[in-house]
Amino acid sequence: MRFPSVAVALALATALAAAGCSDEPGASARVASATPAATSTPTASVTPSVSATPTPTPTPSAKPTTTTPPKDTRAGKQLATPYEVDGIIVVSKKHRISAGYGPPDPTGPYHLESAAARALAKMTAAARADGVRIRVHSGYRSWTTQNASYQKALRNYPQNISFYAPAGASEHQTGLAVDLWDGVTWSLPMARTATGKWLFRHAHEYGFVLRYPDGKTRITGYHYEPWHYRYIGKRDAMKFPNNKLTLEEYLGLA
Ligand SMILES: [Zn+2]
Repeated sequence: MRFPSVAVALALATALAAAGCSDEPGASARVASATPAATSTPTASVTPSVSATPTPTPTPSAKPTTTTPPKDTRAGKQLATPYEVDGIIVVSKKHRISAGYGPPDPTGPYHLESAAARALAKMTAAARADGVRIRVHSGYRSWTTQNASYQKALRNYPQNISFYAPAGASEHQTGLAVDLWDGVTWSLPMARTATGKWLFRHAHEYGFVLRYPDGKTRITGYHYEPWHYRYIGKRDAMKFPNNKLTLEEYLGLA
């Protein structure tokens, strides 16, 4: 750990594993071989334009926001109910849930919410028909599990804490998010596997969206995660065909 680059790589590796989503032993080691830094630069395009004419913020083409989303005024016991916009649950660093919340109808080995579990089964079968293997790296995670991982990061990698999901800020607690891979290649290189590419092209057809797209860290609060897919239902997911839109933009929360 004497060499800063090694320290940084290790810290980042652990950070990615936790924010992201991996709890499996060995995942961090695989992350270390990645070259994650290049992909997550905060985009300059977010900077407001200096031109004299006030330009309206470009709306993501998919869904012009016609209504203002409700303010998240939940506090105390109300945090047991997740924040929703247009029937879509939003859990993030800005919209948290309390410890007792979990999927109302957990299903299968990964305790995913039943609709998400069904959609995942369909998607996995479709990929298999195309000769592509999809495996689940991580499904539902409890508040307690997330908290343990976050506290560990606070102690060991405080400089990279922004990579970690604090307890209550992880979508995995809803049972609507999954981390997917091919069972071999994890972390950022996963994006270049047949599984990563297939998901990138087809996940929306099954109701899943790439939740933390590349270059959108300032909006989502999380590093680019090519493995983290969030179930929002097919009707809405079909508006995310190129994986550039974030849920925050789509719902008018960005
Ligand atoms: Zn994840």
